[in-house]
Amino acid sequence: MPGIPALPTETMATQATYHAALETNLPHVRERIAAAAERSGRDPDTVRVVAVTKGHAPGAIEAALAAGLRDIGENRVEELQRKVPLFQAGTVTWHAIGHIQRRKAAGAARLAALIHSVDSVRLAEKLSRLGEAQARRVPVLVQVNASGEAAKGGLPAALDPEAALDGIGAIAVLPGLRVMGLMTMAPFVADEATLRTTFARTRATLEAASSIDGLAGRELSMGMSNDYEIAVEEGSTMVRLGTTLFGPRPA
Ligand SMILES: *Cc1c(COP(=O)(O)O)cnc(C)c1O
Repeated sequence: MPGIPALPTETMATQATYHAALETNLPHVRERIAAAAERSGRDPDTVRVVAVTKGHAPGAIEAALAAGLRDIGENRVEELQRKVPLFQAGTVTWHAIGHIQRRKAAGAARLAALIHSVDSVRLAEKLSRLGEAQARRVPVLVQVNASGEAAKGGLPAALDPEAALDGIGAIAVLPGLRVMGLMTMAPFVADEATLRTTFARTRATLEAASSIDGLAGRELSMGMSNDYEIAVEEGSTMVRLGTTLFGPRPA
């Protein structure tokens, strides 16, 4: 692939493994997304696959690009900082999808084309100040906790919907941000009904927020390897897929 530096030889075996995994897995994933979209009367092209490469060697990203996937998700800012310089600018659309400590906000704002995980007004304010200082608007999604689980981050769309909407409103008017929609994480171990409720609540929160001043997009980042078909049925426009594309992450 032009512009992508050769990887160290010790990773060549993994690179071939990633190519093979995508060759097998990606067509299945595309079919399942298309079927789920059609079940809910949606155009499959409205669902973007974000390939989550956290914990994987850069060869996974190279393989993803070769398979036609340009949207790459990383969970940690440090890993973004390590991986971004390995690829020619413009070849990868980088997504920051994990919790961001405020002291790492500058790295995320600089490297990611979209930050999915703005999980507090305080983090949003920090990112907005960074955007303003650079005379730009940082593209973000607001993360909502639509399951009510204590361990999940995000504005409390399940436990206190009014507070969540207030928070989204406060974030949407920040001058250094462009709020493109919402993101959620469903409970990892959950029955289908619980997953569906979580995703439907996130969509309802976006609908309730759509009259809010400053909301610049209608994206719904929801669905991971174990639940993306339900997420698409419930309106997801971005699925964040790791394991189902690349196999299990190295320990
Ligand atoms: C790791 C991760 C994913 C992908 O998880 P898989 O189950 O491997 O598909 C998606 N979203 C976030 C926020 C993640 O941290």
